Amino acid sequence: MKIGVIGGGAAGLAAAYELGLRGHTAEVFEGAPFLGGQASTFDVGGTPVEKGYHHLFRSDTAMIDLMSELGIGHQLKWIDSNVGYFVDGRLWKFTSPFDLMRFSPLPLLDRIKLGLMTLMLQRRKEWHSLEQVTATEWLKEHAGRKGYEVIFEPMLRGKFGDHHDRIAMSWLWNKFALRTASRGKGLLGRFKEQLGYPVGSFAEIFDVLAERVRSQGGQVHINAKVQGTIVEDGRCVGLRVAVDGGEPETRTYDAVLSTVPSYIMPHVAPDLPESYVAHLTDKTYLAAVLVVLVLDRPLSRHYWTYVGDRSIPFLGIIEHTNFIPAENYGGGHIVYLTNYLERDSRLYQMSAEELYREYLPHLAQINPAFDESWVKEHHHHKVDAAQPIVTPGYADTIPDHRTPIAGLYLANTTQIYPEDRGTNYSVRMGRQVAALIDDDAN
Ligand SMILES: Cc1cc2nc3c(=O)[nH]c(=O)nc-3n(C[C@H](O)[C@H](O)[C@H](O)COP(=O)(O)OP(=O)(O)OC[C@H]3O[C@@H](n4cnc5c(N)ncnc54)[C@H](O)[C@@H]3O)c2cc1C
Repeated sequence: MKIGVIGGGAAGLAAAYELGLRGHTAEVFEGAPFLGGQASTFDVGGTPVEKGYHHLFRSDTAMIDLMSELGIGHQLKWIDSNVGYFVDGRLWKFTSPFDLMRFSPLPLLDRIKLGLMTLMLQRRKEWHSLEQVTATEWLKEHAGRKGYEVIFEPMLRGKFGDHHDRIAMSWLWNKFALRTASRGKGLLGRFKEQLGYPVGSFAEIFDVLAERVRSQGGQVHINAKVQGTIVEDGRCVGLRVAVDGGEPETRTYDAVLSTVPSYIMPHVAPDLPESYVAHLTDKTYLAAVLVVLVLDRPLSRHYWTYVGDRSIPFLGIIEHTNFIPAENYGGGHIVYLTNYLERDSRLYQMSAEELYREYLPHLAQINPAFDESWVKEHHHHKVDAAQPIVTPGYADTIPDHRTPIAGLYLANTTQIYPEDRGTNYSVRMGRQVAALIDDDAN
C-alpha cells in the first residue's frame, strides 16, 4: 500500500518507518521547515538542543528500543537526575526521599505522611479507580491539605496552569509509576533517579528515522503543509498538499494517517462526522511557552527546579547544562524558563523581548549573584498543542485511531492515556497505528 502521513514528529516518522518494515510505502508531509515537531531543535554553540527541554525515563522502552533498532542506542546516555524546589525564598534540593525529610517548609508529620503516600502510590498497580477523581481531591485526602498546598499544587500548576485542580488522579498515578521505573535497583539505587538523553539531541533520532523511511522507498517532505484529505464514497483516497510553497496538488493513497493536533484535524478532514469531531473539539491543550537563556556561567546546581513561589511568573527552571555539559554548546549554559499557558493569556501574547524583560528580574531570587551581563543569548519558543488536559472520565472521550472515514487514521497526543504525552508514547502509538493500518489491509 501507499500511505500518506501528515506530520513529521515522533508519531508520524515512527509510523512511516513501521509501515516500511511491513512492506508498505509511506510519504510523510511535515508543514514546518524542520522535522521533530514538539521535540524539534535549534542550535546553541553549533550543537542542536530541543526548543523545549527533553529527556527520557528508564520506562520509555519504545524509544529506547527504537534507538537500538536504528543503530544509535549507544548515543543514549543515562545521567543522575538532580531536582530542586524553590519556595519561601529558598532553593531546596528535592531529588531523594532524604531531601523530603529535610524540607522544613512542611511540618515533620506532613513530611512523613507525604513520604508514606508516595511509597504507597509508587507501589500501586490498580489505577482505574483513580480515573473519576481529581488529583487535587485525592491528594488533599491522602497527603493532607498542607502537603497538597506546599508540594503538589505548585507542581500541578507547573504543568497545567489554571487547570491544575481539574486533572484526573490516574494521570498523576502514572507519573509516580514512571518515576519509580527511572530509579535504580537495590536500597541505595531506589533513591537515585536517572534520566536519559540522546547525545547529539533528539534531532538525531528523527534524522535517522527519515533516512530509514527513504531507504525503504518512502519519502519525507518538510515545508509541506497538508490542506485537506480527499474522500470518495466514504473512503479517504488522497491528500491536497502544497510542497515547498508551490501550488496545492493532489496525491493519491490507499490510506492516510494524520498526527496533527485535535483542533487542526477537522480542518484537515472536513468530511469527518459530527460524532467524531465532538471528541476532537472537546479536547483542551495548553501551550508551552519557553524563554531559553544561554548564560556564560551556571544559574543553579539543579537540572530541574520547580518554582512554588507564586510571585515568580514562570513555573519551572530547567538547566539543561546541569544534565549535559556546557562544553557541548560552546561553553554556553542553557536555562529554560517554562510556563504552560492558555493561548489568550497575557504571557503567551507577549513578544520575545517583553517576556524576557518580564522574567529577568526574578532570576536574582533563584541566584542572588545573577546579573544580566551573564546572558549571552536569549530565545523564545512556543508550542501550541503542548499539553492535553486530562480530566476525570477522560478515557471515555478519546477518539478511536480508526476514524469513521475508511482509510483515514488519527494518532495524536490526546490519545495517549493514562501516560503523559511524550516522545516515547508517540513512537509507541505511531508504530501501533501503523500495525492497525497493516491489519486493515489484510
Ligand atoms: C516543552 C516541552 C517539553 C517536553 N519534554 C519532553 C520530554 O522531556 N521527554 C519526552 O519524551 N517528551 C517531551 N515532550 C513531549 C514530546 O515532545 C511530544 O509528546 C512528542 O514530540 C509529540 O510527537 P507527535 O508526533 O505526536 O506530535 P507533534 O510533535 O506535535 O507532531 C505533529 C506534527 O504535525 C505537523 N503538522 C500539523 N499540521 C500539519 C499540516 N496541516 N500539514 C503537515 N504537517 C502538519 C506539525 O508541524 C508537527 O510537526 C515535551 C513537549 C514540550 C512542548
